[in-house]
Amino acid sequence: MAALTDSVSRRFVIIGNGIAGTTAAEQIRKGDPAAQITLVTNEPYPLYNRIALPPFLKQKVTQQKVMIRSLAWHEERAIQLLREETAVRVCVAEREVHLASGKVLPYDVLLIATGGRANPLPGAANLRNIFNFQTLDDALAISAQIERSRHAVVVGGSYISYELTEAFRARGLHTTWVMRGPWFLRRVLDAEGGALVDRIAAHHGVEVIHGAEVAEVRGKDGEVREVVTTNGRVLPCDLLGVGVGITRNVEFLEGTGITITGGGVMTDEFLRTSVPNIFAAGDVAAYFDRYVGGHITMGTWDNATNHGKVVGQNMLGAHIPYDDVPTYSTTLFHNRIMAFGATPESNPEVESVVWLDEASESYRRLFFHGERLVGGVIIGQRKGFPKLLDMIKQRTPVHPSERAKVLTETLQ
Ligand SMILES: Cc1cc2nc3c(=O)[nH]c(=O)nc-3n(C[C@H](O)[C@H](O)[C@H](O)COP(=O)(O)OP(=O)(O)OC[C@H]3O[C@@H](n4cnc5c(N)ncnc54)[C@H](O)[C@@H]3O)c2cc1C
Repeated sequence: MAALTDSVSRRFVIIGNGIAGTTAAEQIRKGDPAAQITLVTNEPYPLYNRIALPPFLKQKVTQQKVMIRSLAWHEERAIQLLREETAVRVCVAEREVHLASGKVLPYDVLLIATGGRANPLPGAANLRNIFNFQTLDDALAISAQIERSRHAVVVGGSYISYELTEAFRARGLHTTWVMRGPWFLRRVLDAEGGALVDRIAAHHGVEVIHGAEVAEVRGKDGEVREVVTTNGRVLPCDLLGVGVGITRNVEFLEGTGITITGGGVMTDEFLRTSVPNIFAAGDVAAYFDRYVGGHITMGTWDNATNHGKVVGQNMLGAHIPYDDVPTYSTTLFHNRIMAFGATPESNPEVESVVWLDEASESYRRLFFHGERLVGGVIIGQRKGFPKLLDMIKQRTPVHPSERAKVLTETLQ
């Protein structure tokens, strides 16, 4: 990995004003009152809370509550915010970022915090009522379409498809959830956990179709009317929600020599890329995780926030390793789900033990790598979670024969 610059540089350019980029800007300002800080985003808004978009779609919070930084906040801190500007190229030799508008931003230290964009439904035509769910503009457009709809179909087996499903039901639509895998979060939950999620969804009137994909989207007058699945179902559809993963925004880095791995920008534990004076943070970073012992990408708010805090200081010349156990927590209709640390998604070699209590709709699966607890997933009862987190951080040795004991002891 590249070494940090000896002298503290003054022109800081940050591409992406999500929670990682904006937190880094704030951190740099705290550490260097004289620094020139430029934050670039292709969106029209200052920072908003992406994880508040599902409650916004369910009409549980207002748009005002979703916004978490104002233009005034940037002005007060002399952070120049360039909105609706897209970085299209980075010239490493000249230390310049080129924007689609033709502007050129010279930098001394650069941060890539460009997150990811939602994948479109493969093969689907460009019809007006097919939606991804990634931005505030997506949420506004979906919300308007809900008003005109009765039947919704959601495609995908991960968190975003769940969020769409829950929001559509909460807004009174007849909702069918179609997923390719045998159950929700097929690599993180096992069959029992998947069945519990199905029961919870059914309780809320959602029909879940497993092991199927969209075979055909039938449209008329520029809108989807029916979705045909590979297992032969024909579903009426006024609104098609798509949650089939993200692609990290790295294309504009072509030719820079920055190493890309697993679709993300590879960094060391200090969030430095392979090119001097260029850092990466948040969803776009494939960072070295001390607990997993390898490079991983994460898509969680806490991870992006904490990356922003660490990388801002390192861009000023500090040498702080990123040292955190990532946690993803969200609702599961009336219940809650939380995944933490490494799961088979980030590390396929882990082994697991499982506990389920049908009556309280509680489920727990812990992941072990050799003699160490490395992660887990919890639905319902969260008792003992701080202890589990502590065991991961402390690298507490657990003999394979003792794994089930860890599960039962932390539940008591
Ligand atoms: C609907 C939804 C619900 C979620 N719910 C949860 C949850 O419950 N819990 C949880 O932990 N996480 C959740 N997440 C994930 C979480 O929001 C993300 O992990 C986090 O916001 C990532 O922050 P970031 O700053 O890395 O990237 P982003 O927030 O993606 O910000 C990157 C910004 O860079 C911009 N950009 C990209 N390329 C360019 C370019 N070339 N030039 C200029 N600008 C560019 C993008 O448009 C974007 O504004 C959710 C995400 C979504 C979409």
